[in-house]
Amino acid sequence: MAGRKISIGCIADDFTGATDVASIFAKAGMRSSILIDVPEDGTVVDADAVVVALKTRTIDPSLAVEQSLAALRWLRGEGASKLYFKYCSTFDSTERGNIGPVTDAMLAALDSDFTVACPAFPANARTVYKSNLFVGDVPLSESGMRNHPLTPMTDSNLVRVLAPQTTRKVSACYHETVKLGVDAVRAWSAQARAEGFGVGVIDAMDDQDLEVIAEALSDDPLLTGASGLAYGVARVLRKGIAQSQSANRIDVRPGSRAVISGSCSTATNAQVQRMLRDHEGFKIDVAHLAHGRDVVSEALRWAEGRLGEKPVLVYATAIPEEVKANQAKFGVADAGDMVETALSDIAKAFVEGGVSEMIVAGGETSGAVVKALGIKRLDVGREIAPGVPWVSAPHAHGPIALALKSGNFGGTDFFLEAWDSLS
Ligand code: ADP
Repeated sequence: MAGRKISIGCIADDFTGATDVASIFAKAGMRSSILIDVPEDGTVVDADAVVVALKTRTIDPSLAVEQSLAALRWLRGEGASKLYFKYCSTFDSTERGNIGPVTDAMLAALDSDFTVACPAFPANARTVYKSNLFVGDVPLSESGMRNHPLTPMTDSNLVRVLAPQTTRKVSACYHETVKLGVDAVRAWSAQARAEGFGVGVIDAMDDQDLEVIAEALSDDPLLTGASGLAYGVARVLRKGIAQSQSANRIDVRPGSRAVISGSCSTATNAQVQRMLRDHEGFKIDVAHLAHGRDVVSEALRWAEGRLGEKPVLVYATAIPEEVKANQAKFGVADAGDMVETALSDIAKAFVEGGVSEMIVAGGETSGAVVKALGIKRLDVGREIAPGVPWVSAPHAHGPIALALKSGNFGGTDFFLEAWDSLS
C-alpha cells in the first residue's frame, strides 16, 4: 500500500524524461519519486507524484504497450486516478511508435476516448505552433534531431508524425483557440470527441498556455506530453496538496565524480568539447567494441589514479558524420547497444570503485546505466538546469547522486557546473 494517495501517476518512456518530469512536480512542492521499471507488488512509495521510468521509446511497439499498461495498472492500484504519459519534448518516435501505440492502449485501458498530445516545453525552447514543433528558432526537422541515432525527426508537423502511429483520428488545436482560455479549449476537446477524433495535437507557446490546457482538461483521466504540460498539471494539482518543505532534499555521500556520455546530440557534443578543454576524457571507439577489444578494461585502467573530486569523462559522443559511419558499418541497433553496454559496465565499475556523484548524458544511455547499477528508486533533488535535477539512488555502497541528462538539455558548461548545485 502507498504511504499516501498518489495525486498523479506518470509513465515516462525513458529515464531522463522520468527525472525531468519528476523535477517539475518536485518544484511545485510535491513529494516526487521515480520507480525504475514496473514496480513489483508490495513496493511502498510515499509521494504525491510517482513516475514509473520505462525504457520504451525505441523498443518494439507491442512490448512498449505491454510495459506501459503494466505500469498503469500498478499506479491505478495505488490510487492514482490521474495518469500522464511523458515522452520527449522533441516528440522522439519512429513511424511504428511508440507515442501512438502507447497512447491508444492507455486510453483503452482507462475507458477513455480522447486525449491531447502536447510536447511543448517552453522553458527549454520547445514550442508548438499550428501543430509544428520548434526547437529554439528552427522547426524540429531542421534541428539537430534530424540526425538522432535512433529516432531521427525529419517532419516538424506533429499531426503528420502521429497519424501513422495511431489507430485514432488525429485533430489539431491551434494557438488561436488556446489563447482564448480554458472554456475555448474545453469546447474544442468536446467537439473533437464528438467528431470522432481520438487524439489532438495542441499548440502551446508559453507556460500560461500550458496552465490553460491543464486546467481545461483537468477532468480527463489521461494527458500526454513532455514536461511542459506536466508543469501546467502541477500548477492545477498543487492547489489541493500540502506543500512539502523537503520536496527536493536528497542524500549525498562524498566520493569521486565522473561523467558518462552516450548522447550524440548537438548540445552534448558542445558539452563534451567544453569539458575536454581542461579535463581528461576517454573516448569509446565503436570499431574497437565491434572488433571485440576489451574497451571497458582499457577505460577502467585509464581511470585508475584519475578518479577523484575533479570529474573524469568517459564518452562515445560523436558528431553526426561519425555516428552515421558507425551505423552504416555495424548497424544502428548494434552500434547503440554496444556503446550502451560498454558505458554501463564502466559506470558500474566506477560506482564499485568509489564514484558517488555521476552525470550520465543521453536518455537511452541513462536507462542502460541505471539498470546496470540495479537501481530501483530515485528521489528527486535540486534542479541543475531546466529538465535536469540531481536525483539520489539508494545503493548497497551508499546513496549515489546522479544527474541523468537528456541529450538536448543543459548549457555548454553543464558538465562543469552541475556539481555546484549538489552542495
Ligand atoms: P539522447 O538523449 O541524445 O537521445 P541517447 O543515449 O538516448 O541520447 O541515444 C544515443 C544513442 O546513440 C545511444 O543508443 C548510444 O549508445 C548511441 N551512440 C553513442 N555514441 C555513438 C557512436 N559514436 N556511434 C553510434 N552510436 C552511438
